[in-house]
Amino acid sequence: MIELSNIEKRFGDAIILKDISIRIPEGTVTALVGPSGGGKSTLLRCINLLEIPTAGSIRIGEETLDFVPGRRLGWQAIQKIRRQTGMVFQNFQLFPHQTAIENVMEGLVTVLKWPKERAHARAMELLTKVDMAHKADAWPSTLSGGQQQRVAIARALAPSPRVLLCDEPTSALDPELSAEVVDVLGRLASEGTTMVMATHDLRLASKIAHNVVFLEAGNVVETGTAKSIFTAPERERTKRFISTIN
Ligand code: ATP
Ligand code: MG
Repeated sequence: MIELSNIEKRFGDAIILKDISIRIPEGTVTALVGPSGGGKSTLLRCINLLEIPTAGSIRIGEETLDFVPGRRLGWQAIQKIRRQTGMVFQNFQLFPHQTAIENVMEGLVTVLKWPKERAHARAMELLTKVDMAHKADAWPSTLSGGQQQRVAIARALAPSPRVLLCDEPTSALDPELSAEVVDVLGRLASEGTTMVMATHDLRLASKIAHNVVFLEAGNVVETGTAKSIFTAPERERTKRFISTIN
């Protein structure tokens, strides 16, 4: 279980996330949806502590971290949480000077200090999972966007994080390449990978998410199962937003 409790994030005087509490059961996919600027990316970045919440707490597995205004967190405490998350970005962000397999091995070798052979075997296993084994030795610049994103997913999964965080994983891709990535994410979801995904793509969300959180202006407007949010949302605001899908 991943539990966000009363998360608040301020940038200066601006309150970007207001008292957000969400539970993410293991093995489920949660989609963060809502209008631009609502706080989806910021919330994802708070889960892996790329941004430090200004109040609230995060529990991932056995690790809990409380955020107290004015108290600086130790690097070790941050690393404990961060290591349990893997992040996939809209624009892939592969290391351009490394081949596909080197990208996937990088964290295992440099952070987790795995021997190269073991990291290579693990990376090959993950590239196979995302249908990219045949491009293991390719440079990122020679891969399509969909292929780069699949390598990025393999890289994020390499250290076996407890949760995969995806920020608009398909929005830089045209429909055909996007479909490849959706396919891989759908497969991971059906294998029980815990995911939190910010997306504008309501079709993607309705396809693979179990639960949906609708965020607007830093507030959770409504949360529920994907089925209930997409077929029978309770709030007027959610109804209007969801109606854009059809
Ligand atoms: P989009 O759908 O466009 O990706 P989003 O829901 O992901 O939007 P965020 O990127 O989380 O929204 O932004 C939420 C708000 O926080 C915006 O008003 C943004 O300007 C503000 N914001 C984000 N990062 C910072 C920052 N580092 N400093 C100040 N304000 C920020
Ligand atoms: Mg965003």
